Amino acid sequence: MKTPDKIPPATLAKLAKLGIHHRADLLLHLPLRYEDETHLTPIAALDAGVTVQVQGVVSHCEVMYRPRRSLICRLQEGNDELTLRFLNFYPSQQKQLAVGKTIRAIGEVRMGYFGLEMVHPKCRAVDDDTPLQQSLTPIYPTTAGLSQPVLRKLIVNALENIALTDTLPPALLKKLQLTPFGDSLRLLHNPTPDISASTLEQRSHAAWRRIKFDELLAQQLSMRVHHRERNKRIAPTLPPQRNLTNALLNKLPFTLTNAQQKVWREISGDLAQSHPMQRLLLGDVGSGKTIVAALAALQAIENGYQVAFMAPTEILAEQHFLKLREWLVALGIEPVWLSGSLKKKEKSAAAERIASGDTLLAVGTHALFQASIEFNKLGLVIVDEQHKFGVQQRLALRNKGDEPHQLMMSATPIPRTLAMSYYADLDVSVIDELPPGRTPIVTKLVSDARREEVFERVRAACLAGRQVYWVCPLIEESDAMEVELQNAIETHQQLSEALPELKVGLAHGRLPPAEKAAVMAAFKSGALQLLVATTVIEVGVDVPNASLMVIDHAERMGLAQLHQLRGRVGRGAAESLCVLLFQQPVSELARARLKIIFENSDGFIIAQQDLQLRGPGELLGARQSGVAMLRFADIREDEDLLEQARQIADELLQNSPDVARAHLQRWMANKHDFLHV
Ligand code: ADP
Ligand code: MG
Repeated sequence: MKTPDKIPPATLAKLAKLGIHHRADLLLHLPLRYEDETHLTPIAALDAGVTVQVQGVVSHCEVMYRPRRSLICRLQEGNDELTLRFLNFYPSQQKQLAVGKTIRAIGEVRMGYFGLEMVHPKCRAVDDDTPLQQSLTPIYPTTAGLSQPVLRKLIVNALENIALTDTLPPALLKKLQLTPFGDSLRLLHNPTPDISASTLEQRSHAAWRRIKFDELLAQQLSMRVHHRERNKRIAPTLPPQRNLTNALLNKLPFTLTNAQQKVWREISGDLAQSHPMQRLLLGDVGSGKTIVAALAALQAIENGYQVAFMAPTEILAEQHFLKLREWLVALGIEPVWLSGSLKKKEKSAAAERIASGDTLLAVGTHALFQASIEFNKLGLVIVDEQHKFGVQQRLALRNKGDEPHQLMMSATPIPRTLAMSYYADLDVSVIDELPPGRTPIVTKLVSDARREEVFERVRAACLAGRQVYWVCPLIEESDAMEVELQNAIETHQQLSEALPELKVGLAHGRLPPAEKAAVMAAFKSGALQLLVATTVIEVGVDVPNASLMVIDHAERMGLAQLHQLRGRVGRGAAESLCVLLFQQPVSELARARLKIIFENSDGFIIAQQDLQLRGPGELLGARQSGVAMLRFADIREDEDLLEQARQIADELLQNSPDVARAHLQRWMANKHDFLHV
């Protein structure tokens, strides 16, 4: 970073930590909140819970050792007193607060042991006539070793020296009722005292709206540009030959639902194009995505191209492998299996078949995309539960081979606004209908006090020839895996003792893959009647005869997880039941979640409510969420801005590409991988 006054390298390093690499980045480093040092509140008028600035004379200052070492200081104004308390302090602070000094302190007032107090207020020694600040004091996000005053000075300097030209034409601003960029920025960095700190902090002020709009517009533009660039790249054209796809369709014991047919047409059409497909197939659990993926694979294979079919866990990948083999061997296609747990020899044999082009379909975990795996003629990549993969893995996918088509699948139903924002660079197909013949799942909330009754239900279901899942939750503690495991083992023991006549199996994440697969296979074949499992079965397991699911400690689980788990039953024609066992006390949030899952079965509605409860970052997995990279806008609150940004992005790219370019330049100059989700 070059600036008129040289910034020391140590400071540059700290700035880089904050994502500030260019001087212009300082402009968009906006305050988290503000402190109001423009006036003083008399100590006599203080109330607990408010953050204010006070002024007084130190009447007493001492270090106390009980209940813990702290610096206690009494500030006096007339006859009124306020306690200042510091738990960590330096000798210099102690000196600053010497008896007789006049101090200005700003902080939150609380009711403490000695009456009203401020803990760790910001203090400075003043004279009686030291002037007050003229505007609210911005408090910036910062990092250890970079103080607010230093950062503030750098920002003020940038504001003075960089031209704050508007990237958007005045007519557009007028139409959208947005304030100019420069004014908005200056206001946010330096708000006048007449503006309430709360409209600034809630980001509802017009200046904030302008910045948020700009950010959303940049995001939308960049995704559109990305989309357009993809259309210029070359992928193999894989038109429908229909010999294999029709053969599979004719063999199926069911016909595709209308929704499946619709998405299949979309995918089939994409594959016939000469630019790479990047399509997301969204469908609730049980909506039948796998068959659609199999058809896509066959269309590539019909054209002599290879397909890589990848799933995030070994259990799920294996299940796909078995399913595909069942469907495809009769068509003369022998898929090859590849996972991290294969023996070295088996792995190299699989790699050899992939490299030679001997096999046209490889199924497995992300082991498929190790550098050592070379495809002979890769035409299509299918990724199931794509949101479970990290960014790195998805980048690796893209770079592999000469631009294969990509089909990504997800059972995380995403509310429309979120999809608009997050997936604007992808084409999206939605299966919005479940296959017929499913009986709706009945959900029951049962207190753990009635655990024994639930055992009886399990017994009855199994004796009636059905199968049962009993899921133990992931417990969020540091050694989560251990605790989860322990929990599952104990529950397995408890159930085996309570239900001696049943064949009870146990599956958890720590089992060696071969054993895990054996347990799953035994459950699938009906050899096991009751499967106690940790959340390893969360995604994709398909056992139509299972009609009862018990979720232990349901109060600890997230909504998406509960919905996914519940989707493991209700896959056959039998009436299915999901019992959510909960243990008191149930937190407010957990209660809200249980209510939502109890009242709703539609994954999209559940996701919408989840978004309200949790926010988008968590819903999509913060690591890979393009939304999480929005620093200012919040798509829950700024839906109207997002909608506008979408429209304007299209208009600008169509009619004013220069404006679009300038805007992207300002917002994205430094963020090339903003989009590479
Ligand atoms: P998901 O979308 O959750 O991956 P699956 O592909 O595993 O769902 O399908 C769930 C079950 O529904 C499977 O047993 C599958 O064979 C069956 N299935 C899929 N499509 C249909 C259909 N059109 N009619 C009847 N059953 C279907
Ligand atoms: Mg699936």
